[in-house]
Amino acid sequence: MRNFASLKAKQFTESVIREMSRVAAAHGAINLAQGFPDFPAPQELKEAAQRAIFADHNQYAITWGSKPLRDAIVWKTQRDYGVTWNPETQLTVVCGSTEGMIATLLATINPGEEVIVFEPFYENYGADVVLCGATPRYVTLKAPDFSFDFEELAATFNEKTRAIIINTPNNPTGKVFNKKELEFIAELCQRYDALAITDEIYEHILYDDAKHEPIWTLPGMEERTVVINSVSKTYSVTGWRIGFVAASAELTASIRKVHDFLTVGAAAPLQMAVAEAVRFEPQYYEELASFYRERRDYLLKVLQEVGLGCVRPQGAYYIMADIRPMGWDDDVACAFHLAEKIGVAVVPGSSFYRPEQPDSHTFIRFCFCKKMETLEAAAERLRQWRKK
Ligand code: PLP
Repeated sequence: MRNFASLKAKQFTESVIREMSRVAAAHGAINLAQGFPDFPAPQELKEAAQRAIFADHNQYAITWGSKPLRDAIVWKTQRDYGVTWNPETQLTVVCGSTEGMIATLLATINPGEEVIVFEPFYENYGADVVLCGATPRYVTLKAPDFSFDFEELAATFNEKTRAIIINTPNNPTGKVFNKKELEFIAELCQRYDALAITDEIYEHILYDDAKHEPIWTLPGMEERTVVINSVSKTYSVTGWRIGFVAASAELTASIRKVHDFLTVGAAAPLQMAVAEAVRFEPQYYEELASFYRERRDYLLKVLQEVGLGCVRPQGAYYIMADIRPMGWDDDVACAFHLAEKIGVAVVPGSSFYRPEQPDSHTFIRFCFCKKMETLEAAAERLRQWRKK
């Protein structure tokens, strides 16, 4: 029988992040690999979901999202950034940022075109670009501060460049792109008539003085940015699969068509519940950031004590740790050793890089979106690693 795997599917591998969760389960390891909270979602949100189900919001919602949710997103965006999106023409509710990204790329990118991706990258981006028949072009975020070389970025843009993907606050590095960097990217997008596709899923998870600067608020960028966001991280409901895409009316028309044929729509009762969460007071988001700040500070200290080289994240909830000070130079072997022998699962850093990238084997990624007890238990095991 012939090999039925498509040429596109053959170009990328299974998600290593999700694989590490299975490895964690198989070895009884504490899962600091996949970025999902192990604590309850907000009570009000769960009650709102119950109410929505019992009020029989159980059939397909409007394909591009229930009206109360689109209205709530517009309200929050106006409050936070002073920008008013049109809920009828500029918003599409999707099944998480994951669908938002692939729907956006399928709706805007043609085979043979190029999409610029910063490396290390959230692992879906490379595969998504390949699924569109396009070519990813990578620009390195250089440790220790994960800054990029302006000249390298400028040289990567060319006539084939259709879009650049930006993820800030960033997974896996914890980098928060600053205004100067975003202005530079914005200028290149305008010069080469390219789109900025911005994944802002960690928008509210910021530390120290870091500020989230949405690129679509910069002059000339509103029409050429596609904003992708999700409730997964902001409201600790990664399993609900609700996200949204905001773009110009013209781009939205294209994105909505792709979204409709991909998934029809996101879970109707959960959209109703999320519409309530999106209207939470600013205090909710302040508490979320300080909740994660405490965990970042705790895990950072533990990892430094153990002897790993850590980059202090400014946002999101991951720490990239350099394994070389612990005598390792193979991230995959190190991650399996940690899961199987020490009982803590992490993600090998190379899964955020192209295979041929030389820097890629020196990091492992820890996530800290966990209860303090979970992090404390992991810390105890990691201290044993140091002793061994
Ligand atoms: N984008 C980034 C940068 C992520 O880190 C994640 C999940 O870890 C996702 C997207 C997936 O988001 P969603 O659950 O909304 O599909």
